[in-house]
Amino acid sequence: MEAIKRNVARILSELPDGVQLVVAAKTRQPAEILAAVEAGANVQEAERAYRVIGNRAEWHFIGHLQRNKVKKAVELFDMIETVDSVEMASEIDKRCAQIGKVMPVLVEVNSGRENQKSGVFPENVEPLVREISTLHNIRVTGLMTMGPTLANAADLRPYFAETRRIFEKLKEMGLPDVEMRYLSMGMTDSYRVAIEEGASMVRLGSKIFGERAASAGE
Ligand SMILES: *Cc1c(COP(=O)(O)O)cnc(C)c1O
Repeated sequence: MEAIKRNVARILSELPDGVQLVVAAKTRQPAEILAAVEAGANVQEAERAYRVIGNRAEWHFIGHLQRNKVKKAVELFDMIETVDSVEMASEIDKRCAQIGKVMPVLVEVNSGRENQKSGVFPENVEPLVREISTLHNIRVTGLMTMGPTLANAADLRPYFAETRRIFEKLKEMGLPDVEMRYLSMGMTDSYRVAIEEGASMVRLGSKIFGERAASAGE
């Protein structure tokens, strides 16, 4: 646990001003996540850890959200980073209306234009953002992207750059009920490149907790 705290402290001290750390906590134990929270990090993980940690952290959903999990997710999470369809947005809106909540979300961009991956293709981001802006219980607060899986992090640069361009364009448009505040890009292998390309939120797992055990599954 001491190593986790040290890692978080070091990362927080190294991140440039204005860049937020999101701890990618999938497969980790509540105690491990708690150590990260105590060192000053925000966290994403599921219900089990939530019961231990509660509102000591802000909770971001960063996985693929299934329709039948939306009801639970809107109760637990403070932000959903992976909205990529009107259907999902409408379901979030509906469930949030039932509990009197307005959910901040990021639209996930499929910057690599890979058919099998989640996220909307770059050219479809603006139409989706416009549609979501008409819903009352969900609010777009930025964009998120993973980019393709590439051996060399530097090769992700063009995908991050394109997502940034879309982000800046939407920001300039100043659409009503849209706040372009967060640009979530970069993981353990790629966050430095992502920050250079304008990320204001990085999602780190292995860099904090160590490599995920293969047996833990994903
Ligand atoms: C697991 C995960 C991360 C963090 O990955 P690491 O390489 O362990 O830092 C970031 N974003 C998403 C969506 C993830 O699922």
